[in-house]
Formats: sequence, structure tokens, C-alpha cells
Amino acid sequence: MKRGAGQLINFRDNARRAIENPTLRRAMRHATESFRQKRSDAIVGIPFEEWREQASELRRTVIGDIKGYVDEFAVNATKRGAIVHRVKTAGDARDLIGAILKDNGAKNIVKSKSMVTEEIHLNKHLENLGLRVIETDLGEYIIQIAGETPSHIIVPAIHKSREQIGRLFCEKLSCDFSDDPTVLTNTARKILRQEFLTADAAISGANCYIADTGSIVLFTNEGNGRMVTTLPPLHIVVTSIEKALPSIENLPLLMRLLPRSATGQTLTSYLSIITGARMPGAATGAKQLHIVLLDNGRSEIAKGPYREILKCIKCGACMNVCPVYGMIGGHAYDSTYPGPMGVILSTLLNGIENAHPLLDATTLCGACTEACPVKVPLLKLLYELREMRVDKGYNQTVESLGMAGFGIAAKHAHIFQAGQTSARALWSLAGYLSPLTVNRLPKPTNRTFRRRFS
Ligand code: SF4
Repeated sequence: MKRGAGQLINFRDNARRAIENPTLRRAMRHATESFRQKRSDAIVGIPFEEWREQASELRRTVIGDIKGYVDEFAVNATKRGAIVHRVKTAGDARDLIGAILKDNGAKNIVKSKSMVTEEIHLNKHLENLGLRVIETDLGEYIIQIAGETPSHIIVPAIHKSREQIGRLFCEKLSCDFSDDPTVLTNTARKILRQEFLTADAAISGANCYIADTGSIVLFTNEGNGRMVTTLPPLHIVVTSIEKALPSIENLPLLMRLLPRSATGQTLTSYLSIITGARMPGAATGAKQLHIVLLDNGRSEIAKGPYREILKCIKCGACMNVCPVYGMIGGHAYDSTYPGPMGVILSTLLNGIENAHPLLDATTLCGACTEACPVKVPLLKLLYELREMRVDKGYNQTVESLGMAGFGIAAKHAHIFQAGQTSARALWSLAGYLSPLTVNRLPKPTNRTFRRRFS
């Protein structure tokens, strides 16, 4: 959903609050370090660079002709009995999905993880229509009962410790306290199993859709994706238009890159390829399959200078390596997509007038660009958006004054030297004014290059 005029993202205050929360920081450090290590291990001994290059080329081809792939997919999926809907805005998508569910008399809906449904704020809309929506991915289920939004696109509850989840289950599900992941998973499993069996309808996302077969593909690590997409009689897939793969033959490349980059797995636990609605005589599958392809500004982005962000396959690797995200988690970004790719996509989807504070959520270290399995030039896009922010006059006065001051100092050695001395003296004070800055930047040294040289 696009933010309205004046709904400025208050990134600085959000980040400050996150930094002052030691439990959050501990959970984030532990999770991101573990994902980074697993990813590094998973790409040893394989031609990762070669695959990245191929995937980058493939995704570039797709975003060069999104409409063509949507058309081809719609023809092939319709032939297999699916009903394909193309929607322009988040509001159109919400209205359409609400209408499909109402027309079919659905009341209880089970969901498998879908960031696009988060983008359009679907759950709230359906609940306002009197429908009951249950998230069935464990991470999504945790944040749903906590009344929160995802903090990571792959690991929604990344910001929570095991103890916090144990206390949450105790309070909301009236069970005994435990912080053992097996016990917690079994508690959720027991409840969710009943939901799968009694649901009237299902909603899922898709990691990609395949133009030449009309299939949608889901990569999941829990059995919930299979339950959601096969048990209820009505299944609605909600995905965005840029997620095309031209051919089923391209799928193995994505199967190699996505799990390795997301969680450090060589293969995802469950790969589901769904082609059309249930055929007569088939034992499983939804009798009615609707596929909602959301544009929500992407066609415009695809025509512009930031189009390469649409190459993104939503693996989350750029978040796991980002020093800013690793310190503050996803909620500080106050938008569906956090981390480096989120800063770019959220700025483009919400408008720079609402999202420009997010452009501070980077150290411009470039780790995200190196980690990206489809070579989205994240660093370049971040630079260019920051330039756009300056051109449009959204940069902060203090930043403009700072840059002007630095310009003068860089041209006059004695001013530069005086600046270095005062920076050292004022550093401890800066900690009170901006903890984020102090955590991001190294402390000014006592032995500067100039001193050593002389
Ligand atoms: S930008 Fe690249 S690394 Fe980040 S989520 Fe997208 S594909 Fe993954």
C-alpha cells in the first residue's frame, strides 16, 4: 500500500529505539551471524559466480519484457484451469481477493507466507470484512499472535528470542512455558493442523511464476505450504508481476541460488510447482485456483533508471550482511521490505517524499551488492537515490551544512586539522546525540596520518 502524503517514515527515532533494546540487538546479532556463516559455507566449491551471472542475465531479460511474460503466463495458466487476474493497485488487489472469498462463502482462511500480501495489508482488510485469517508459516504465526509485522522477508520473527516466543505462546495459547524450539513448534503444529482441516480457502504467495507452463512455484521449509495449497477447495495465489521465469528450464538455476542465499541450504525442504486447478479425478489440489498478479507501481519502475531492483528474488541475503539491518532489525524501517533492497524498493513504492529518511539506513559499505545472488547493483542504486534526495531537497539541513563544511575543510589544511582535533573531543558527546552514528562509524584516532607522517 502506498503511504499517503505526509506519512513520513520516522527512521531515525525507530532506529534509536531499536538500538536501545539490548534483547533485540542480541537476537539480531545471533541470527544474522548464523545466516551469514551458513551462506558462506553453502557457496564453497560451487561455481557461484557463474550462476550469479546467469541469474542476473535471466532476471534482466524478464524485467525488460514483464508484460510479455505476464501475457504468456496468463494464456498457459488459463488453459490449465486457473483464473488469472491482473491488478494495478494494492486497493484493487484487496477488493478483488475480498470479493472472491465472499462470493465463495469462505469464512476461515489459512495463509502461507507471502510478502506481497503484507505489502497490500491484506489480513487487516479481510478481518474488517469479518473473515478469519490464520498465518501458518511458524514465523508468521508467531508475529500474527504477537500483533506485529515481519522483521525479515524470509525469517519474519528474526527479532524475537526463544524465551520471548515461549512467553508469548504461554500468554496467547494458554500453554506451559517452554523455550525449547521443538516444544514450541509442536504446540503451533497441533493448533495449525486443525486449521488446515477446517479452512474454506487458502492464500499463498509464489517465489516465481513460469511463463511457458503457467505454473506457480513455492520454496518452503515447513509442510504448511503443501497443506495450504492442497487441502482447501479454494486457493488464491498473490504475487507480483516481476517474478516471472520464462521457462521451466530456468527453475534449476533459481533452485540452486535461492536457498543457498536465503538460509544457507543447498536445497529447499519443499519445492511445490502448481500448474492449474485440480483436474477431474485428481486426489489433491484446489478445485478453484485464482492467481492475482499485482503491479502496484512495478511497470513504472521497470521503465526507469532503478529498474534493476526488480531483478530481486527476495532471498534476504543483503539484509543478513547489512551492518545497519543487523543492528536494528526490520521494524525500524516501518515498511514491508527492510534492509538494503527494502530501502530501495520502499522508496520507489512509497515515493521519495515519504520514504527518504530510509536512505540513511546504509553505511554504503557495499556488502549487500557482493552478497546478492542476482547481482542487483544495490550500492549504485542507493547512491543514485541519495543523489535524487539531494536534488529534490529532502536531505537534512545538518547534512547539507556538514557537507559544505567538509568541502571548505578539505581545501584548507589547517581547518581540516582543527576539525580532526574537535571530532575526537566531541566523539563522546555524539554518542548521546546519535547512537546510530557512533555505532556505525569508527572512533576518530589519536594518531592521524598527518601526525604520523610529520
Ligand atoms: S536484493 Fe539481492 S540479496 Fe537482496 S533480497 Fe534481493 S536478491 Fe536477495
